Amino acid sequence: MRVAPHDLAPSELAFVPFVSVENMMRIVHDAGVAETIAAIADRIEADFLRWESFDKTPRVAAHSEEGVIELMPTSDGEFYGFKYVNGHPANMARGFQTVTAFGVLARVDNGYPVLLSEMTVLTALRTAAASVVAARHLAPKDARVMAMIGNGAQCEFQALGFRHCLGIEEVRLYDIDPAATAKAARNLAGTGLTVTSCDSAEAAMEGAQIVTTCTADKKQATILTDNMVGAGVHLNAIGGDCPGKTELHRDILLRSDIFVEYPPQTRVEGEIQQLDPDHPVTELWQVIAGTAPGRTGRDRITLFDSVGFATEDFSALRHIHAEALRTGHYVDLDMLADPDDPRDLFGMLARAKG
Ligand code: NAD
Repeated sequence: MRVAPHDLAPSELAFVPFVSVENMMRIVHDAGVAETIAAIADRIEADFLRWESFDKTPRVAAHSEEGVIELMPTSDGEFYGFKYVNGHPANMARGFQTVTAFGVLARVDNGYPVLLSEMTVLTALRTAAASVVAARHLAPKDARVMAMIGNGAQCEFQALGFRHCLGIEEVRLYDIDPAATAKAARNLAGTGLTVTSCDSAEAAMEGAQIVTTCTADKKQATILTDNMVGAGVHLNAIGGDCPGKTELHRDILLRSDIFVEYPPQTRVEGEIQQLDPDHPVTELWQVIAGTAPGRTGRDRITLFDSVGFATEDFSALRHIHAEALRTGHYVDLDMLADPDDPRDLFGMLARAKG
């Protein structure tokens, strides 16, 4: 007879809950898009507060001329999680997503997966949530206007997260492709945000206290030049997240207080790859824990040099795991071989023959 580890019945071990794209959308609509971003932001923040409990490693990247495929593992000793994610800036022109992802959550005590989930939608939600967490601690408290430079797949999630969690009232959109801006403006109509479509990055930044850059190009781009960034602004730089793929002019970095997720990863992938390897940066979790200062004055430029870190995906997977079980929006996947006698794997296979 099989003894189930801890609280799980044997039947629960045999099947792995799977959250498809369709069920992810059901789970998100069940709670609301902005509410889901807020809930994931709270999980990310709580997990940043126990930063020391996580195994941390820079993600494992396989680069090609077209893009990158990455694995992002972490564990808190109770659960293990990883995300598979790609970043292919040329995909959009070919009718594919720039970023797609899926992920796994497993129990550490027996190694069995407890969740397999789509993470393309979830990555957009968690990236917005991570931006919200950083801005909560770094942006000017009275920020009401945000610029969104790059109006692709991530854009509306960011705007909605900032509206719901930080009280942003106006979002000013710019993209080199006016069709992307029109799409974002359409999707954000009726959300309570004042949406202003702009014909340049400079115009989008007029009056904005928060500036999010979220473009995709596999090069050292200059989405923002030094003269475009005034005192007191919070920069939320999301798009530069690979070696040789940045968005901000180096001079902006030299004027900014820089905050990062995990320095060994961000030094290679973030905007700070343009700086000396010992240029001072602050780890975001320390600001949240109150052991390092965040915004130290109204005139400071704060920069969240976001690349996306494994613990954020872990937090998002834990949230979706709980929500999937609560709502029933998942299917059981026959993913684990389950012979009656654990040693009789061959017998199980032999008996299955016609
Ligand atoms: P996307 O391809 O859907 O959208 C990118 C948009 O940027 C497009 O609409 C494109 O026209 C626009 N763009 C490109 N160059 C521009 C320029 N010079 N000025 C203005 N707009 C420009 O991609 P996405 O899924 O929205 O992702 C955007 C970026 O964010 C990607 O680089 C991706 O790798 C990155 N990303 C980062 C994180 C993170 O955690 N930091 C998470 C997800 C995605």
